[in-house]
Amino acid sequence: MVLILPTSRRSSSDTAVSPVTLTRDAYGRAMTYLRISLTDRCNFRCVYCMPALGMKFQRREELLTDEELLRVVRIAADLGFTKLRLTGGEPTIRPHIVELVRAMKAFPGITELSMTTNGLLLGRLAADLRAAGLDRVNISIDTLEAEKFKAITRGGRLDLVWQGIEAAEAVGLRPVKLNAVVVRNQNEHEVGDLAALTLDRPWQVRFLEIMPLEGVGTVHDEGLVTSEETQVRLEERFGPLEQVEAPPDDPARVWRIRGAAGTIGFISPVSAPFCAFCNRVRLTADGKLRLCLLRGDEVDLRDLMRCGADDAAIARQMRAGIWRKPWGHGLAEGDRQTVRGMSQIGG
Ligand code: SAM
Ligand code: SF4
Repeated sequence: MVLILPTSRRSSSDTAVSPVTLTRDAYGRAMTYLRISLTDRCNFRCVYCMPALGMKFQRREELLTDEELLRVVRIAADLGFTKLRLTGGEPTIRPHIVELVRAMKAFPGITELSMTTNGLLLGRLAADLRAAGLDRVNISIDTLEAEKFKAITRGGRLDLVWQGIEAAEAVGLRPVKLNAVVVRNQNEHEVGDLAALTLDRPWQVRFLEIMPLEGVGTVHDEGLVTSEETQVRLEERFGPLEQVEAPPDDPARVWRIRGAAGTIGFISPVSAPFCAFCNRVRLTADGKLRLCLLRGDEVDLRDLMRCGADDAAIARQMRAGIWRKPWGHGLAEGDRQTVRGMSQIGG
């Protein structure tokens, strides 16, 4: 594999992309955060993310190569993106993940590199990822009961994920954040036990509302538990939560159980969208710049690159796409994303 290193910046035929100019949409929102899906595949099959049957995965040649991926990241850095998150599918199953992390973190302008992972492979990868420059991880864990975990992930092993969480903490991928999608009749009675992890650990446990993406619309319709309901349940057990100030671009509203070492986050895309503060776009594993998680409008960067476009042309298309980024995802109005599932977009 040949990785493009930051020193081999761009070909002489490319016209310069002006450095660190913030790229804004038509509403004035500056885009500084790129979420990158490294693969649409996964070693789990979570009930709220993938259907039990009929999941189709992309062929290898449809996915961005390492070189194409790094080229997009380099151009994004030139456009003012400073934060990257690697996701998927499951990012840790992407070949050369450690080398990719190292190369991305080395691009001038990239100040923060994090990953959302199911944690299964973190036990063996955490130290190398940290050494390569990964700053933080969010690990998905919806229950603390091994059998329930197996059911929700359709086969996952909780003990290995737990080892992954401990490895992340030990090597300094901090603050460790744990993501739990709350689904009725699956894990809504366990939110207290998950929140209790923050009592003596400096972690953030984040409760996510389930979104109705392709393949899991029925799970959403039958299983949505709002953040408000989760908060009521937590306050019944722990007393009133104390609000904690969070950065404006954090989609989580952050709280603390009185006296706890860690915090609790509520991510409420269905009941309280945070579109006004959105600073992110996504890069799908097949090279589409996706302007909003839940809207179909995408810019096909892969085909541009494969047709020989130079960096300046790609940057222009990225800017043009970002300019037309939609204001809201429309869930409250009943709009649905019906083409891609969460694992294909990069949640
Ligand atoms: N495989 C990794 C993982 O599970 O952490 C990264 C990809 S996963 C798609 C990213 C995040 O999206 C996870 O925290 C997962 O729980 C969340 N997620 C998946 N499907 C969802 C849905 N329908 N609604 C809300 N969150 C979802
Ligand atoms: Fe895989 Fe993550 Fe989706 Fe679960 S939520 S199936 S771990 S991509």
